[in-house]
Amino acid sequence: MPGYTLLGDRVIKMSGGDGYDVTGPSGIAHEMMHNWWGNFVFFDADKGNWCEAITTYLTNYYWLEASGQEEEALKWRKHASVKYSINAPPDRAYPLIEFRGKQNEVDGAVGYEKGAMFFHYLRKLIGDDAFFAGLRQVIREHGGDFATWDDFRDAFKAHAPEQVQQTVNLDEVFQHWLTRPDAPDFWIESAGNELNRQTGDWTFAARFRQAQPYWALKLAFSLEDEDGKLLAEGLLQMNDRESSFSVTGPKPYPTCIVELDPEWHMFRQVPLSAQEPCLNLVMNDPTTIVVYPSAKDAMSDELTKLVEVIEASGRELTIISDTEFKLEMLADHSLFILGGGSANSAWEQVRELVPMETFTANPRSFTIGRKVYDAKGMSVLATFTHPRSRGKFISIYHGNSVEALARARYIFFYGWDSFVVFQGGRLMEREMLPPLTNPWRREVKSARFDASDARETTPLRSGQS
Ligand SMILES: [Zn+2]
Repeated sequence: MPGYTLLGDRVIKMSGGDGYDVTGPSGIAHEMMHNWWGNFVFFDADKGNWCEAITTYLTNYYWLEASGQEEEALKWRKHASVKYSINAPPDRAYPLIEFRGKQNEVDGAVGYEKGAMFFHYLRKLIGDDAFFAGLRQVIREHGGDFATWDDFRDAFKAHAPEQVQQTVNLDEVFQHWLTRPDAPDFWIESAGNELNRQTGDWTFAARFRQAQPYWALKLAFSLEDEDGKLLAEGLLQMNDRESSFSVTGPKPYPTCIVELDPEWHMFRQVPLSAQEPCLNLVMNDPTTIVVYPSAKDAMSDELTKLVEVIEASGRELTIISDTEFKLEMLADHSLFILGGGSANSAWEQVRELVPMETFTANPRSFTIGRKVYDAKGMSVLATFTHPRSRGKFISIYHGNSVEALARARYIFFYGWDSFVVFQGGRLMEREMLPPLTNPWRREVKSARFDASDARETTPLRSGQS
């Protein structure tokens, strides 16, 4: 092993519910990987920190693939895009080349998630042999010395197979990924059958699009019938606005499901309407109103402690008491209600809007779906799609008793789930709710489908498209 890594007490304490635990297996693996990347091959932050990207990719991600955990690997890739879209929205994201180190979650999303998915893109582009040969070259040539992003580029160029060299400009790929702050933004534009009246033939066409400025995208797509049987699949290259798949025959193509990059290999912008509801969406929305209970009792005291945690996070959210809350405030705002049942009068106004079959919060119990949770020590953190404003969300934190709220301040570690149930403050169950839309999946009936009004094109926060 070419070097060693010392973990300080500050790093060891960095353990949370975000899937990252320094002293857990993936955390230790990550720190050990730094024996090569960072502590043997050095980086100069002024020229770009590539070190967390490659370390994260090879351990936190690649291990899942290498050890056959396909499902977990897919989840990791998906979460990288989800996390980037939430934590590094267009008005806060910056280019990967400018990443120096992690001070906050924007840095994390840029330097770790996007950086790792850049290496994933490169690996898919040039193939495993060339990718790992390139990495070995960087170690060989720069061990005990500094390396830059350019050195990675040159090493991959030296090993990329001939046909890749001829069709892909790796200088441009590096240029795009390192200097652009955004993530690729692509979707299924339309899909359906059309009759050619002159020939009598049917053409089934699926059109895929991306937003400007364009990326060079290599995307898998698949068409399955209603029973999940594969009808067609392929890889498409999209370098500008549009790419498509079509097939012509004597009959219309059967009812099918079209999916674009179903395995989430391509890093992407996830529009708000395509996000699975979770607390981090609410916490990162500057329009969010936090409503705390105004009553003077033990329950309210516990819940109001969360206000301090939210203030300490540096987020400038509007914080009001439930007596100040009016239902009109819901328009175009996300909401975080501290306390359900009768503990928070805001919940009593909002509860009507949340489908009962989804969630209810009562004074000494709550329900998720049809399941009743009535043990005294249980609490729940729940987030739903806003019933009236697209791209907004409502979170509620509720406990069946004062004791159930004992470890309330830890709920922020569970910011990626739609439902999290705690027993005595410890995690008991977690669950996701489906997103409002899925721009990468379309069910095509015999009639023609057009996506133009079904998809949200506005990315997080800013009006860039
Ligand atoms: Zn690291």
